[in-house]
Amino acid sequence: MRPLDTVVCVKVVPKPEEVSVDPETRTLDRARARSELNPPDMNAIEMALALRERHGGTVSLLSMGPPFAAPYLQVGLAMGADSAYLLSDRAFAGADTLATSYTLAKGIEKIGGWDLILCGEESSDGATGQVPQGIAEWLGASQITFATSLAVRADGRLVGEREIRGGHEVIAVPLPAVVSVKLGVNEPRFMDMERRHSAAPVTVWGAGDLGVDPAWLGFEGSPTAVGAVWQARTRERRREFLEGTPQEKGRLLAERLRALLAL
Ligand SMILES: Cc1cc2nc3c(=O)[nH]c(=O)nc-3n(C[C@H](O)[C@H](O)[C@H](O)COP(=O)(O)OP(=O)(O)OC[C@H]3O[C@@H](n4cnc5c(N)ncnc54)[C@H](O)[C@@H]3O)c2cc1C
Repeated sequence: MRPLDTVVCVKVVPKPEEVSVDPETRTLDRARARSELNPPDMNAIEMALALRERHGGTVSLLSMGPPFAAPYLQVGLAMGADSAYLLSDRAFAGADTLATSYTLAKGIEKIGGWDLILCGEESSDGATGQVPQGIAEWLGASQITFATSLAVRADGRLVGEREIRGGHEVIAVPLPAVVSVKLGVNEPRFMDMERRHSAAPVTVWGAGDLGVDPAWLGFEGSPTAVGAVWQARTRERRREFLEGTPQEKGRLLAERLRALLAL
């Protein structure tokens, strides 16, 4: 089996618990939220590093996002990835899944020489779960979605396992392939702080570096428009704190329950 060159697509996302939706623009208000690497993308990095340990080859990280995403890619480099690429340009802003997958596919073509693309199953902000399939289409590669494990067979085929209702499905596809990885399928390794200092810098590419058709980029290249977004209202529950000794509280609780049952 020859070495495996893998590109892992990683998205820098706002921490879900800190995000709010701007009712005017219908976009996520990122300004007040801290960011992190999308959790299933961490599982994808771990899977790529484990495959490299088995088969040799390289692991590259690829992200499309604003310049502040670069330090997050360094986390992946400190975990053991060989190189990292950030696609960052105002022309990429406002991309839907079609434009995002197009831009990422162009980045993958520029990195070149890849056998396997790993993505997370979905992002915690947009959460469409469409980007991996889009990348596979643009690149004309095989695809396995929602994989829980991956192995390369002696005949060079990639074998992926996925959960289906009531069981498991095992799929074998030829390489090159694009795979989306389920959240929580492994334990992402810790960063190696020494590697963090010695790691290669993140390479930043703009639209001009990728040889892209500008009509397919960003807001202009995105046929999807978000019609409406609102925050789900949480219903305040009625509650009462009972005072007294444990015995008194027990008696009061029994009274309240009796009254409720009598309704
Ligand atoms: C509230 C809201 C609703 C939206 N609704 C839609 C919609 O209905 N249709 C639509 O087309 N777009 C929608 N978008 C836009 C969507 O967030 C973007 O298209 C986004 O760039 C990619 O889609 P996703 O986050 O859903 O990725 P997903 O497809 O959920 O991501 C799966 C995997 O693809 C990879 N990936 C995704 N984005 C990147 C990236 N920028 N860099 C590197 N890897 C990446 C990661 O590995 C990730 O785990 C919406 C955005 C918001 C905020």
